[in-house]
Amino acid sequence: MKLGFIGLGHMGGPMCRNLLAAGYDVAVYDVRRDAAAEHERLGATWAACPAEAGAGRDAVITMLPTPRHVEAVLLGPGGLLDALAPGAVWIDMSTSVPEVADRVRALADGRGVHVLDAPVSGMAAGARAGTLQIFVGGDPEVVERARPVLDVLGDPERVMRVGGHGAGYTVKLMINLLWFAHLVATTEVLSIGTGAGVDLAVLRDALLASPAASNFLDRDVLSVLRDGDYDESFALALACKDLGLAVDLAREVKVPAELSALVEQVYRRAQRAYGDLAGEMAPVKLWEDLTGAPLRLTPQGA
Ligand code: NAD
Repeated sequence: MKLGFIGLGHMGGPMCRNLLAAGYDVAVYDVRRDAAAEHERLGATWAACPAEAGAGRDAVITMLPTPRHVEAVLLGPGGLLDALAPGAVWIDMSTSVPEVADRVRALADGRGVHVLDAPVSGMAAGARAGTLQIFVGGDPEVVERARPVLDVLGDPERVMRVGGHGAGYTVKLMINLLWFAHLVATTEVLSIGTGAGVDLAVLRDALLASPAASNFLDRDVLSVLRDGDYDESFALALACKDLGLAVDLAREVKVPAELSALVEQVYRRAQRAYGDLAGEMAPVKLWEDLTGAPLRLTPQGA
């Protein structure tokens, strides 16, 4: 199976390396020419535009920042869609919404080109390890054709078809929305509790042993509490994009989203304070800066 891969950033870069290591013939494209240097060393072919990355390929993966970028790559000048042959599959693994994919599908259906949405969870570390969780939306037989490729990128046990076209995008947005809400709620709770004099490690242990426990408190928050690492491998600009898309989706399906809208505003405040490239956990710093007390475990507590 010949592949194309477009978008070699924090996620796409290591994902594409895994496909090359698995022996796939891959044509690569990114607006940053230098992003492909390592992939070319590993045997990838450089494509000068999205269309070149799609010509003669059985499947092409996009891993791009926002729906706007996906649209430019598929439908813009030198776009991917026009280059895809009948029977080829476009797999969009970006965190996005169905709007662009629906428009592409309307044009692609008549030409026998297939479309899947397959966004991922698992952070840059999961992309490097090939252990991503992948949520696939689309026709079951097309998903099965793409499965060998997806199994290289993700943990095969956690590559799951979650419904028809667009379902993958929705599931991924809901996961991020809940995770960001966990981050804001957890930060507030830890700041109040420690502000009232309880030791951070004791408070965290008590919460973990209670019905209020969460994976976020158990695992993910530790990068901040232990190392002061706010995870710059996932940029705040992208987190804000995801929250905006999730709140838009709530509006579209007419479900009130008071809490989600508030979480989005907290994230946008952090983006303003710390910049687009700050890490996805930078909103914790809003409380730390306000209270003047970093949330850090002492070596014994860690
Ligand atoms: P990134 O910004 O690191 O990488 C995006 C890449 O796309 C860059 O290399 C950029 O140069 C390239 N690009 C931008 N516009 C382009 C265009 N028109 N044509 C070709 N290439 C173009 O982003 P990322 O962190 O790798 O995230 C990619 C997607 O995955 C996003 O939708 C994000 O929300 C999602 N995601 C990210 C993470 C994470 O931890 N970073 C986790 C899960 C999902």
